[in-house]
Amino acid sequence: MKNLIIMGPPGSGKDTQIEKLKDVFDFETISTGEIARELSKKSPKVQRVIKEGGLVEDSLIFSEINNRLAQITSDKGVVFDGFPRTIAQAEELNQIMLHNGRTLDAVINIYLEEEVIVKRLSKRHICANCGADIPAMAEKCLVCGGRAVRREDDTPATVINRIQTFLERTLPLVSYYKTRGILFDIDGDQPVEKVAQDINEKLGVNV
Ligand code: AMP
Repeated sequence: MKNLIIMGPPGSGKDTQIEKLKDVFDFETISTGEIARELSKKSPKVQRVIKEGGLVEDSLIFSEINNRLAQITSDKGVVFDGFPRTIAQAEELNQIMLHNGRTLDAVINIYLEEEVIVKRLSKRHICANCGADIPAMAEKCLVCGGRAVRREDDTPATVINRIQTFLERTLPLVSYYKTRGILFDIDGDQPVEKVAQDINEKLGVNV
């Protein structure tokens, strides 16, 4: 059983790598991007924050994380996708883990040059029906056959803000976790399979 954080800038392939990790250990994913998009359906304020590429209020994110974590049985690992995004969120996560009797085993930091991020996001498509990422070669969703559309927050202006938010607020987490000895850097500018192999190696899992 492992509890992990997968961090990386937008477009670094976190979702794809989380799917790959399912082949090697049993876990549930808590994605705060998904939580934020759910919240945005009921809250115009959250919708605006996402569109502007900012960060949704901590209290909303924390209460959803607590709800979801409470539903995961203790024999299963947890992978946090897109959380924490700030030092304050990392401090809160320490408390949440303690409270749930879990230990954070590793932080996978998928890094990518800014140029590559912009290029990837300008080409990214998701499914209009189920929201899954659609690979560049595919015309329809590989999960449900839905139509390919752009993500609302992949517009050039929002992408610039999301990258800025990442650099200013999230990147400090790299040294935060490095000093705790649990951070593993992974080069995200490689073929998907190679990135997956590097992650498995760092986690010490053999496939
Ligand atoms: P993502 O799918 O992870 O790129 O997240 C999409 C958007 O959801 C982000 O640009 C933020 O507006 C919001 N969001 C995701 N995770 C968090 C978080 N941990 N804290 C605050 N806002 C978040």
